[in-house]
Amino acid sequence: MRNVVIIGSGCAGLTAAIYAARANLKPLVLEGHEPGGQLSLTTHVENFPGFPDGIMGPELIENMKKQAARFGAEYQHGAVTEVDLSQRPFKITVGNETIETKTLIVAAGASARLLGLKGEKELIGRGLSTCATCDGYFFRGKPIAVVGGGDSAMEEANFLSRYASRVYLIHRRNEFRASKIMIDRARANQKVEFVTPFVVEEILSPDGLVSGVKLRHAETKAPREITLDGVFVAIGHDPNSTVFKGKLDMDENGYLVAKHGGISNIPGVFIAGDVQDHRYRQAVTAAGSGCMAAIDAEKFLEGHKND
Ligand code: NAP
Repeated sequence: MRNVVIIGSGCAGLTAAIYAARANLKPLVLEGHEPGGQLSLTTHVENFPGFPDGIMGPELIENMKKQAARFGAEYQHGAVTEVDLSQRPFKITVGNETIETKTLIVAAGASARLLGLKGEKELIGRGLSTCATCDGYFFRGKPIAVVGGGDSAMEEANFLSRYASRVYLIHRRNEFRASKIMIDRARANQKVEFVTPFVVEEILSPDGLVSGVKLRHAETKAPREITLDGVFVAIGHDPNSTVFKGKLDMDENGYLVAKHGGISNIPGVFIAGDVQDHRYRQAVTAAGSGCMAAIDAEKFLEGHKND
C-alpha cells in the first residue's frame, strides 16, 4: 500500500515527488508513456527561475528526478491503463500490475497534437517529428518545415535553423499566438522563411519518407508545393486524461478540473500540471501546481490517519 502515487514524470509530477518525498511519504512516480514530459522534448528553457543562462529541458528534468530520488521517491516505467477511484485505497493498473494507494496525484500532462492528415502517424520517424530536440540533428544541411504559429513553432524554427539549410515556418493565419520576442527572433533568423497564411493539405512521401508538403493559401486558395526533408509539427497539445473519463471532472477539451489549487472531485485525488492547465502551460506553473498537490496530499493523509 502506497501513501502517494504520482501519475506522470514531467515538471509537475517530479515537483510533487520532491515535496512528497521530503514529507517522508515515499511517493511512487509512474513515468507514463512520455517519461520526463514535455520538458524532456524541448530545447533551451530560458524562463525557469534560477537559471540566468537558461538550461536544457532534459537536464532540468533529470535534476528534478535526482532531487526527488535523494529524498526517497521511487520510479516505475509504464503507462497507466486503468484507475479505480470508486473507493480508497485507489487502485491503479500499470500493465499486469495493480498498485494500491491512499492518495493519488494526477500529473499526466499533455501530448503533442498532429495535423490529422492521412498517413501522418506512419511518417513519424520518417521525416515527421513533434520534437525538435530529439530529431533536429537528422536534418543537417536539409530543408525542413515547422508547422504552427505559437511559441513552440517559433522556438523550434530557431533551434532547427542550427541544423537545417532552410526552415519554412508554415502557419494557417497571418497573425501569431507566439509572444513578440519569439516572433522577432524567428523573423531575424535568415534561415527562417515565413509561409503564411497556408494550410498543409498533404505531406508528400512517395517513397515512405517525407519529401515535401502540399499547401493551400488560406484566402486565395492558391496551391503551393515545397520540397523538403522534414516536417516538425508544433501545433499544441492534448491533455492525457482519457483514463479518467467518467471518473474525474473534466472540461469539454478533456482538461481535468481542479479547484483551490489541485483538489479534484474525489477526496484524496489531486491534480497538477498541464493535464489541468490549458491557460498557462509553463514549466514553472506546472512545478507550482505539483507542489500544491503534494502539500494537499500530505494534509489529506494527516486528516485520514485512522481510515
Ligand atoms: P499554442 O500556443 O496553442 O499554438 C498552437 C499553434 O498551432 C497556433 O498557432 C494554432 O493556430 C496552430 N494550430 C493548432 N491546430 C492546428 C491545426 N490543426 N493545423 C494547423 N495549425 C494548427 O501552442 P504552443 O506553441 O505549443 O504553446 C503552448 C504554450 O506553451 C503557450 O502558452 C506558450 O506560450 C508556451 N510555450 C512557451 C515557450 C517559451 O516561452 N520559451 C516555448 C514553447 C511554448 P491558430 O493560432 O490559428 O489557432
